Amino acid sequence: MRKKVIAGNWKMNNDLNGTVSLISELKKGVTELTKAEVIVCPPFTSLETAQTLLKDSIIKFGAQNMYFEESGAFTGEISPSMLKSVGCEYVVLGHSERRTIFGETDQIINKKIKAAVKHGLKPIFCIGETLEEREKGITFEICERQIRFGLEGLTEAELSDLIIAYEPVWAIGTGKTATNEQAQEVHAFIRGLVSKLLSETFAQKLVIQYGGSVKPENAKELLAQTDIDGALVGGACLKADSFLKIIESV
Ligand code: PEP
Repeated sequence: MRKKVIAGNWKMNNDLNGTVSLISELKKGVTELTKAEVIVCPPFTSLETAQTLLKDSIIKFGAQNMYFEESGAFTGEISPSMLKSVGCEYVVLGHSERRTIFGETDQIINKKIKAAVKHGLKPIFCIGETLEEREKGITFEICERQIRFGLEGLTEAELSDLIIAYEPVWAIGTGKTATNEQAQEVHAFIRGLVSKLLSETFAQKLVIQYGGSVKPENAKELLAQTDIDGALVGGACLKADSFLKIIESV
């Protein structure tokens, strides 16, 4: 049985005050009885505060991005060891906003995944098609390309803590969620592909999250699909009550 993993991607939201209040609220709702594994991904500036606040909590935390180099003349960037130094366990890589707004290619994302695992950071690797690609009927092709290039040169052992987040771009922040069937179909495809690329045993253990307008109203049914092992939540993770409702729907 794969554990359900619910992660909140705060994006560029919450200063230190906002971080303290959101994490404090979440801590009240996430207890030993919580069935899901819960991860929050605040902005870089809040990671150290998250580390302090989450010391006595089962909530885990991660970053939303990082650069692949160790150190040096990369103005504005953050390295894997910097994330480790503030206690990060996870890092979101390849989010569609990084791909489209900041021009990240599959090759860059591959380098980032390699750097993350080398430093013991667990990647939450995002993939997904645009509306145009879905309408052209090339959803599987796009997801396959992103996974093949993103994971190129990495072994099963290196990827043992990998999470893949399937996030159809047309569903991110739009209020339009993939139907349960649409999401399940792609998740099953991803598991099948990973089984071919790595192994069946690895694919069966792999956590594949769905992301794209997940909210309390649709979480339960999405999470009940055979190959949906959790959710990567954007908008609905910014309010403790809606994020907790999603967590409780596991
Ligand atoms: C995301 O940013 O990863 C995301 C899924 O956002 P939203 O839940 O707002 O669609």
